[in-house]
Amino acid sequence: MAPAPAAAAATFQPVTLPALDYPYDALEPHIDARTMEIHHQKHHQAYVDGLNKALAGRADLPAASLDGLLGAVATVPEEVRTALRNHGGGHFNHSMFWSQMAKAPRPAPSGALEEAMRRDFGGFKPFQEKFTDAAMKRFGSGWSWLALAGGRLVVFSTANQDNPLMGEAAAGWAGTPLLGLDVWEHAYYLKYQNRRAEYVAAWWNVVNWEEVVHRHEAALTAGR
Ligand code: MN
Repeated sequence: MAPAPAAAAATFQPVTLPALDYPYDALEPHIDARTMEIHHQKHHQAYVDGLNKALAGRADLPAASLDGLLGAVATVPEEVRTALRNHGGGHFNHSMFWSQMAKAPRPAPSGALEEAMRRDFGGFKPFQEKFTDAAMKRFGSGWSWLALAGGRLVVFSTANQDNPLMGEAAAGWAGTPLLGLDVWEHAYYLKYQNRRAEYVAAWWNVVNWEEVVHRHEAALTAGR
């Protein structure tokens, strides 16, 4: 019997749809309840189902955890790589997205994250403008990100369900994701139709900065 390759011996762990820790109408009027319900129950569920179906029973993966798999996407067997990008990315991104919104959160970050924004962008407002600009310039479906890369904050957007874990530093879109904004039309079309700028402006009112500050602290501690 041939030994299993050391770098590709992990078994896929099925994922489940996480519950929201607030009701669907908690983010009204900024994000409407019907959009939240369909986005969570239909769109996110489809990514969960797609990932579980594509990777069911596989024991030849480079990592067991989802973030490990996304970070090693280039070495995942080719026949499941696209499904991992789309459905695994979709599950990871949406799980983050729900936890990074809250009813009536504090309006801006504090502490080390606020200081890092001042160092890397010139302040919170310039950061917001850069992030909004990335969200507006993403053509078609994708995400806008704040990430930590080599101890610095960076802002960029990605296509489809790609995220900073999959990125390449040389290509300018890699890092540990700290904050992500879904700019797929399914995230805003019911309330805002084609008016992405209105959706982005409204979304700033529900960003859960406590959660983003926590992710920043954890990424710094991990030496990212
Ligand atoms: Mn979405």
